[in-house]
Amino acid sequence: MALNTGKILRVNLTTGKVTTESVPEKVAADFIGGRGYGVRYLYDEIKPGIDPFSEENKLLMLNGPLAGTTAQAVSRWMTCTKSPLTGTFTRSVCGADFGAWLKFCGYEMIILEGKAEKPSYLHLTPDGCKIMDASGIWGKDTKVTQEWLVARHGKNTRTACIGPAGEKLVKYAAVVSDRRTAGRGGTGAVMGSKNIKAVAITASRRLFLADPEGYEKLAKQQVSTILGNGGFQNHKEWGTTATQDITNAIGIYPVRNFRYGQLVDYKPILGAEYRKLRVGDIGCYSCAARCGKVHTVTSGAYAGAHSEGPEYESIWAFTGSIESDSLEASIAADQLCDDLGLDTISTGNTIGFAYELYEKGLIKKSDTDGLELLYGETAPMIALIKKIGYREGIGDLLAEGTRRVAEKIGKGSEVYAIHVKGMELPAYEPRGAKSQGYNYATASVGASHCYGYAAQDIFGAPFPHPTDRFDEGNADIVIFNQNETAWHECGIACAFSGGWGWMDIFGKLLAAARGIDAYAGAELEKAGDRLFNLERAFNVREGFKRKDDYLPTRIRTEPLHTRKAKGEGQMVSHNDAFLDKYYGLRGWTKQGVPTSKKLKELGLGFAIKDITAKRK
Ligand code: SF4
Repeated sequence: MALNTGKILRVNLTTGKVTTESVPEKVAADFIGGRGYGVRYLYDEIKPGIDPFSEENKLLMLNGPLAGTTAQAVSRWMTCTKSPLTGTFTRSVCGADFGAWLKFCGYEMIILEGKAEKPSYLHLTPDGCKIMDASGIWGKDTKVTQEWLVARHGKNTRTACIGPAGEKLVKYAAVVSDRRTAGRGGTGAVMGSKNIKAVAITASRRLFLADPEGYEKLAKQQVSTILGNGGFQNHKEWGTTATQDITNAIGIYPVRNFRYGQLVDYKPILGAEYRKLRVGDIGCYSCAARCGKVHTVTSGAYAGAHSEGPEYESIWAFTGSIESDSLEASIAADQLCDDLGLDTISTGNTIGFAYELYEKGLIKKSDTDGLELLYGETAPMIALIKKIGYREGIGDLLAEGTRRVAEKIGKGSEVYAIHVKGMELPAYEPRGAKSQGYNYATASVGASHCYGYAAQDIFGAPFPHPTDRFDEGNADIVIFNQNETAWHECGIACAFSGGWGWMDIFGKLLAAARGIDAYAGAELEKAGDRLFNLERAFNVREGFKRKDDYLPTRIRTEPLHTRKAKGEGQMVSHNDAFLDKYYGLRGWTKQGVPTSKKLKELGLGFAIKDITAKRK
């Protein structure tokens, strides 16, 4: 019997040609789906050295083998492309219903290639895909855009779109679906560069499973395991809206552009304070957690602000970065980023960087369109978000991200640019959570918290072994976390669900969906390793290696000030020793290039010729 490997919708926007193809069985067996398919197809189809905004780049939208089914937390979807922010492979994960709707049309991947002649959107149904005129929504924000599409195509329509930021090619523009975002890496800008405003899917529920009965039994088992899990119940109640309670308490909440690890007084932004403004919950297809917490501001300067968030990273982005304790401003900022289609992490980090440049006199009022970027002041932050989204005034410069801003300004400003490979650091201070920091340094996409989240450092998770969070020697933990995330994202299982006690069922669900008797634990781990190595080969082919695996200068040379928390004076001091150990365990050379032996072991022999010359 042929395997159920998933179908691809390929849309050439230059020629208007739309085709359907099947994923070859060997690719399905080795790469499983989701992120695995993403890296394999990008590796094969993108030439090294291309401009991410050129017609030669491709934007992939992928769900996984389990999408659209009754199993919980497995209908996430993602974008994959060559990032305009970093120049690396990138993937950005999103929620809501879009991934399930893509599956209802029978697809596991859309490949967008070329460039449409004029602003367009795709309308996809089980009967086909049309490229439509988007002049009625070009320039509109993501909320108006999605409402317009649903009004036009009916209530069984789900959408993913860009806002003004994607159209203006802001380097960290997001793709927004409902009010969830594929935020990191600028995948929204790649969509904008192709003149594509949105993808709208109109469909009704259909299943594409090799063994529907076997799958349903497993799904019931998965649901009952999850519903009885304490971690799930806690996540259902809080989402991530109380993570700042912990990170402040242990001194890893980055404040003032990564100078301090704690707000002076973080009581005003505790999870319980956000709880008082909560007006609802939202979630993703077939997930009872509904962990997106909706907030409305009821009084003060931001009264009326309403956001389907902010989640932890966005809470931090709009408080810690500028040392503000205004949860009201964080809600308003989050709403604005969702409307404009901006990644909240890179936006907040870049604004925190701008505030420090202003403090140090490296930019002046005449450079900031008259804004006074003073710590604790939230009005300039809100003004900057709008300017970035529309690339107006100083926003045009900040839209390039911290690395490029520093290159433009010079005068030693690169010391204050807190990024890895051009991607701005998120909401965990590396000097107080060093395995998390080294994940930033070595993740394929740049400084992403969710590429290999070190729950061992942050929450004291004991698996596979506990860590001392100040220890710089846990290369095994960093690799474990990165590989585990990689195979979960072949599902695409939600990152939060990994701790809900059901992962022994994951491989069986995948096998029942695909129609094979495989995907046991060791095989999944090997698949995670395989796709992480192929991402590395992609990046090596682009010129990345050891020199790009260092944490920012500030993190390596300035002591952290934690105020009242443990860890005062900590620095990251052993980046080189860490890399030696990490590369050794990964089977890479001293330059961080996968060896031929390692590639062959993982069935990636085809990549050897592309990276051999880069080993020196
Ligand atoms: S846990 Fe939250 S983010 Fe994950 S699938 Fe469920 S609702 Fe979506």
